[in-house]
Amino acid sequence: MPRAEFRVRERDLAGRIGELRLKRGIIETPYLFPVIDLSRQELPVSEIREIGFNAVITNAYLLYKRGFSQALRDVLGSGVIAMTDSGAYQLMEYGSIDIDNETIIEYQKRIDSDIAVILDYPTGDSLDRAFAEKTVEITLSRAKDSLPKLDFENRAWVLPIQGGVHLDLLDKSAELSASLDYDIYALGSPTVMMESYNYEVVADMLVTVKNKLPYLKPLHLFGGGHPMLIPFAVALGADLFDSASYMLFARDNRYMTEKGTKRLEDLDYLPCSCPVCSRFTAKELMEMEQKERTRLLAKHNLYIVMSVLRKTKQAIVEGRLWELLEEFSRGHPSLYSLLTYISKRHYLYIENRTPSLPMRPSSVFAFGEESLSNPYIYRSRKFLLERYAPPPSRKELVLRPRLSLTITDEAVPDKEEVHLVYYDHIMSVPVDVARLYPEGHVVVPKAFLYEEELYMKAIRNAVEYALRKKMFYQKITLEVCYEWLGASLKALREYQFFNIKPVMCLNRVES
Ligand SMILES: [Zn+2]
Repeated sequence: MPRAEFRVRERDLAGRIGELRLKRGIIETPYLFPVIDLSRQELPVSEIREIGFNAVITNAYLLYKRGFSQALRDVLGSGVIAMTDSGAYQLMEYGSIDIDNETIIEYQKRIDSDIAVILDYPTGDSLDRAFAEKTVEITLSRAKDSLPKLDFENRAWVLPIQGGVHLDLLDKSAELSASLDYDIYALGSPTVMMESYNYEVVADMLVTVKNKLPYLKPLHLFGGGHPMLIPFAVALGADLFDSASYMLFARDNRYMTEKGTKRLEDLDYLPCSCPVCSRFTAKELMEMEQKERTRLLAKHNLYIVMSVLRKTKQAIVEGRLWELLEEFSRGHPSLYSLLTYISKRHYLYIENRTPSLPMRPSSVFAFGEESLSNPYIYRSRKFLLERYAPPPSRKELVLRPRLSLTITDEAVPDKEEVHLVYYDHIMSVPVDVARLYPEGHVVVPKAFLYEEELYMKAIRNAVEYALRKKMFYQKITLEVCYEWLGASLKALREYQFFNIKPVMCLNRVES
């Protein structure tokens, strides 16, 4: 067969749904490889398959040490795609391993893995600059020397990119790695930062390498497999993940949720309806024999991972990946920090990669401040303020508080010369763009009607629109919610061109 090939089917933000076509099958990305240990695997591969995982990863170095010499598919079962890791992780843990790059390359060929990794030299979490430079140099020189020995026609070969948290080094290392024609690139996530919930550094690392890698090469994030982080890593451009956590956590009675990990003994109710959680209660699981409990918890953990992968893919199809990030960011403060960081630091990176139209466009949901960084909302605001020209026949602009979640163009004012524009705390939208996507399809909560600070934001949006479009109209009327009249008048003092008209916004009388 020719070389492994990667095709991108759908995209949203910097995330994509892709197909990694290998000799023995196709992996749909984003995908997470469950880590398996053939000598100790409480959850059989056949059950992992049933959950929907058609590829697993195992450690080639450990297999080599144990004298394993069969083809992997003979023990995993046909139809299971096997990825092997080279042992670099052990190198990082124990400082050295007794195997060289050439041996591990030949060994991975012998056990016929479908996706194989050269023996890199991991930077890991190291803050030591000289050490990081050394890891980059050694890895790149091995990557170059290995190329003639790699059988790309039989399997996909992975090149891990080193440099770690030293972003300038990582950038250079990614650039040089990209010039070597590997099938898949990988990035190690810094475990220490991950354990302390410092995900921002992973975001910086992903953006750094993605900026240098060819578009049609998948990126694997080593060790970034917690379900709560997956949508964020995908949105930043990661395609592949692996995780041993599902099993390590299970052995320690830890139960994964989309919002983090809980201890089984702390749960009165299982917040999941996977086959495991539908059949057993937390108490029943606790009373089981350890081995059986581990198997079931590992299974549940993988169901959660699969569910997050599916949610992420559906969000990509609908162009709602940003909304999914907003949803997940409410699950844990560290994710809220991460979303804020991405909005401020990596907005352009994300926006440049967002398509103008999703595959299946649907309403765009706005919530609060963070929704302003949703590329579809950001672009709508920008378009309406900078490029949109009102219909020329309209002489009077009427800025009206938006009292309904959606706008329709049915509510056209009786007077032909009036141009109606709705304003809220997110943006100002003229009625005549109601059918335009995404401008007319942003669903905005009425929150600004209930809270002064948000209402003042809405007033600022109205003013901004009026200032930009003043020259198109002879008269500008700003309808102001009666409930916030005092504060509004104060804010509007310096803008003399408005005719201000108080209107009732809330269907109740304040006492
Ligand atoms: Zn479950």
